[in-house]
Amino acid sequence: MWEIAVRGDNLPFLKQWRCRLTHVPRPADLAAMEGNRVMSPYMLGLRLEGRRVLVVGGGRVAQRRVPALLAAGARVTIVSPSVTPALDDLIADGRVHWERRRYQVGDCDGAWLVQACTDDRAVNTAVAAEAEAKRIWCVRADDRDASAAWTPASGQVGEIGVAVTAGGDPRRAAGIRDAIVNALRDGTVDARRNRTKPVGVALVGGGPGDPGLITVRGRQLLAQADVVIADRLAPRALLDELPPDVELIDAAKIPYGRYLAQEKINELIIEHARQGRFVVRLKGGDPFVFGRGGEEMIACARAGIPVTVVPGITSAIAAPAAAGVPVTHRGVTQEFHVISVHVPPGHPQSTVDWPALARSNGTLVLLMAVERIAAIADTLLENGRSPGTPVMVVQDGTLPTQRAVSATLGTVAERVAAAGIRPPATVVVGEVVRVGQEIEMVRAERIP
Ligand code: SAH
Repeated sequence: MWEIAVRGDNLPFLKQWRCRLTHVPRPADLAAMEGNRVMSPYMLGLRLEGRRVLVVGGGRVAQRRVPALLAAGARVTIVSPSVTPALDDLIADGRVHWERRRYQVGDCDGAWLVQACTDDRAVNTAVAAEAEAKRIWCVRADDRDASAAWTPASGQVGEIGVAVTAGGDPRRAAGIRDAIVNALRDGTVDARRNRTKPVGVALVGGGPGDPGLITVRGRQLLAQADVVIADRLAPRALLDELPPDVELIDAAKIPYGRYLAQEKINELIIEHARQGRFVVRLKGGDPFVFGRGGEEMIACARAGIPVTVVPGITSAIAAPAAAGVPVTHRGVTQEFHVISVHVPPGHPQSTVDWPALARSNGTLVLLMAVERIAAIADTLLENGRSPGTPVMVVQDGTLPTQRAVSATLGTVAERVAAAGIRPPATVVVGEVVRVGQEIEMVRAERIP
C-alpha cells in the first residue's frame, strides 16, 4: 500500500513542491519483511478432463467458476444447501452433481481440486484445512493470502489460453487479460505465427480513413498478410503498423493509365498469391462501393485463386456521419442514393438518371463529385430540386484533417470553390443535412 505525502519546501511557490512516496506496509508485506516472503505463484494449466472437482458453495462465486471447470472437462460436485438459478440449470441438465446440504469433513476425498466459495469464512477455512491436510489444491475466494492457489483472470482465443495474476488485484488482472485477448483477436499480437494462416487473397475494406473504423476481421487478416496492395484511399495509419518484412505495394503509384493500372493490379495480386503468399488488397471504405472489388474477385476466380471479401464501412455513410449528418431520418427520408460522379451529368459514359434523382425526395450521397459540383448542382436544379435544398460537403471524413462546408444547392459550387475543398470529399444533398444541424444545435446548448 502506498501513501503519497506532499511537502511544500518553499510555500507559496507551488511549482517547487516535492512529492515523496511513503510505503505503508500491509500485513502480507509485513510477513514478507519478516522473512516470510510472499512468492509469485507457479502458473500451471490443469487438464481436468474426467477428474473430480469439489465446489463448496452455490452462490455467485461458484456460478462464475463452474462453467470454466466444465469447459475443462471436470466432473464437478457442488456441496451447498442452495444454488443460484444458473447453477440450477446446469444441475437440471445433468452437467453438475449437487449435494444439497452443508459441507462436512470428508467431502474433499477423491477431489483433485477444491473451490471454497461459500460466504461463510469459517466454512471456507474448514474446507481449506481439510484440503491442505489431504494435499489437495484449494482455492479460497474470500481470502487470497490464505488461499493455496489463485484463480487467474483467464481467456481463450482459438488455441491460445491466457492467464493473468496481478499480485492479488483481480481488476488489474482482468484489464490486462482483456488487453491481451483483444490484441490476439484483432491480430496485433501473434497473428503471423498462427498455424491456420489464410491462403489466397482477401479484398479488405479499410473504412473511411480513421484506423479504428476497419472491421475486426479486416484487421486480423491485415496482420497476417505477406503482401499488402493498398489503394490511395486505404487508411494510411494501418499501413504504418505493418511489420517491416511485409511487402507493401502502393497501387496508386503503379505507372499506367487508368484501365491498364487495374489490369496491372490484378496481375500483381494473382502473381503474389500464386507464389503461396497471402495477399491483402486493402481499399478505402467498402471494396464493392465504387472500389472495383468485383473486377478483382472475377480476376482471382478466373485464375483459380481463393478470394474472400471483407466488407468495410463506406465513406458514403461514414463521411456524412462524421460531420453529424444521418443519411436517413424517420419522417424526413426513406431512401438514400449513392452516386459516383467520376463523369459529369450528360457525359456519354454516365448511366445516372439525374432527372429521376432530382425528382426524388431521397438523400443524395455523391462520391468523386467535388470537381464537378457546379454541373451537378445545375442539373439537379434544372430538373426540379429546390435551390434551397441543404447540402453538406465533407472532406477527409473521419481523419484528423476533416473539414466540412454547408451550403444549399444554389450556393454549393461557390462555397466549395471558396473553401478550397479537395478530394476525397463526399457531398450530401437533402433535408437530412438540416437534421444534422439541429442535432448539433441541441448538443451545443445542452453539452458544454
Ligand atoms: N470504396 C470507397 C469509395 C471509393 S470512391 C468507399 O466505400 O468509401 C472514392 C471516393 O470516396 C472519393 O472521391 C470520395 O468521394 C469518397 N471518399 C473516400 N474517403 C473519403 C473520406 N475520408 N471522406 C470523404 N469522402 C471520402
